[in-house]
Amino acid sequence: MPLPKDPSMRVRFAPSPTGHLHLGGARTALFNFLLARHYGGTLVLRIEDTDRERSTQDSIAAILEGLGWLDLSWDEGPFYQTGRFDRYRELAMELLEKGHAYRCDCPPDLLESKRAEAMKQGLPPRYDGRCRDRSVSPDRPHVLRFRTPEKESIVFDDLIRGPLSFDSSVLDDLIIIRSDGGPTYNFAVVVDDVDMKISHVIRGDDHINNTPRQIPIFRALGAPLPDFAHLPMIYGPDRTRLSKRHGATSVMAYRDMGFLPQALVNYLVRLGWSHKDQEIFTREELVHFFDLDHVGSSPSVFNPEKLLWLNAHYIKNTPGADLVPLLKEALPPLPDPLSQSSDPGYWTRLADELKGRSKTLNDLAQLAHPFLDRSRTIDPEARKKVLTLANSTVLEQLSLALRALEDWSGEGLRNVFAQMGESLHMKLGELAQPVRVAITGKTVSPGIFEVLLLAGREISLARLEEALRLSREPVNNGNTHD
Ligand code: GLU
Repeated sequence: MPLPKDPSMRVRFAPSPTGHLHLGGARTALFNFLLARHYGGTLVLRIEDTDRERSTQDSIAAILEGLGWLDLSWDEGPFYQTGRFDRYRELAMELLEKGHAYRCDCPPDLLESKRAEAMKQGLPPRYDGRCRDRSVSPDRPHVLRFRTPEKESIVFDDLIRGPLSFDSSVLDDLIIIRSDGGPTYNFAVVVDDVDMKISHVIRGDDHINNTPRQIPIFRALGAPLPDFAHLPMIYGPDRTRLSKRHGATSVMAYRDMGFLPQALVNYLVRLGWSHKDQEIFTREELVHFFDLDHVGSSPSVFNPEKLLWLNAHYIKNTPGADLVPLLKEALPPLPDPLSQSSDPGYWTRLADELKGRSKTLNDLAQLAHPFLDRSRTIDPEARKKVLTLANSTVLEQLSLALRALEDWSGEGLRNVFAQMGESLHMKLGELAQPVRVAITGKTVSPGIFEVLLLAGREISLARLEEALRLSREPVNNGNTHD
């Protein structure tokens, strides 16, 4: 069902700061962000930190960092629930006065024994309403409970799931204010959604059972009901709820693994939403096309391969100059930098040359490292397989011919290899592989002429010599430096 174009649309992202921003949370934030931007509405950021034991400043910082990295901006907030306790108490008192709430002084051990009894009989452990019609003095230790309407069906039309109906008799008279005066989770959420004039509540469907608890509170407060949209779960490849068992779930772990935020955003948006069969979207396209009517109701499966594919796409299509600062972050320190590493133009050239072979920024850094620092290592496997006695002739001949080459250009290099191929009766690939391992330390790299050009004459010749020496060594394993 299409939503009307509505600049008064107000949505919120309301994380509980009990850990990192994880993929599911980031997707919820993204969908809210895109909807707000699509309709020219407002995104509110609300930190749901009422659980003081589990909420931490570090988590708040981590969540804000994650949102910042994904470039998901908000318009109002962050509002902190811990800063609004007076407001929750104020509205709870209003509910009390109107008879929608009541004081309950049932001692915890009494509640506990009733709960145990209900469980024993196989009944749901609900509060039995003992204090509903008692008048409990405010001077006694007590909680405030919400008077849940009895035998009513609570119906709402979920924008993703369609109409849903719950029987209120299965709901408890839930506590809204604890004995210490603090609000409970479901109450604070409703008060905030009312005060922040939220028009659309878009959240993970792990909250779907909270919605029938929250709806009567909206009504009791005399507030209009927002629309609700519960986003389908994200599964791991084994079709169980995505968790650490499936690999990294924190957004920032993906940054550390060398992902671009644009790639992760593009990946996350497709977890549940589609636009025809388009897979790759610019930010502008997402804002333009995004809508809830194309969010499916079945769970999506997290596919790391596809994320990697998208990341490779974004890296390849990012101009080298823009990749340079990211490459610098992904590189380990350069203990013995080569002279070209002080030339900014060289970095851009390197990034442009290597980006097509890099699925992550960490791949890019690995490929770039041999061109930036003397301390490049030769992969032991590559050394064993390629820097062999059998290849020493090629290395020797090429070393000599390249040393004699005055014009260190693509054409000059191509001529040397062509002549060498003829005289040794070898194909370019066969000649190139020992040179590739010599220069980069790896068996995978860009074309051999680009490698030689990027490395430059002096480094290339020194590394060929080193490789020649290694190829003649009888015991041929372990790491080496040039
Ligand atoms: N704080 C809840 C969470 O982090 C979200 C609550 C809501 O969106 O209503 O899961």
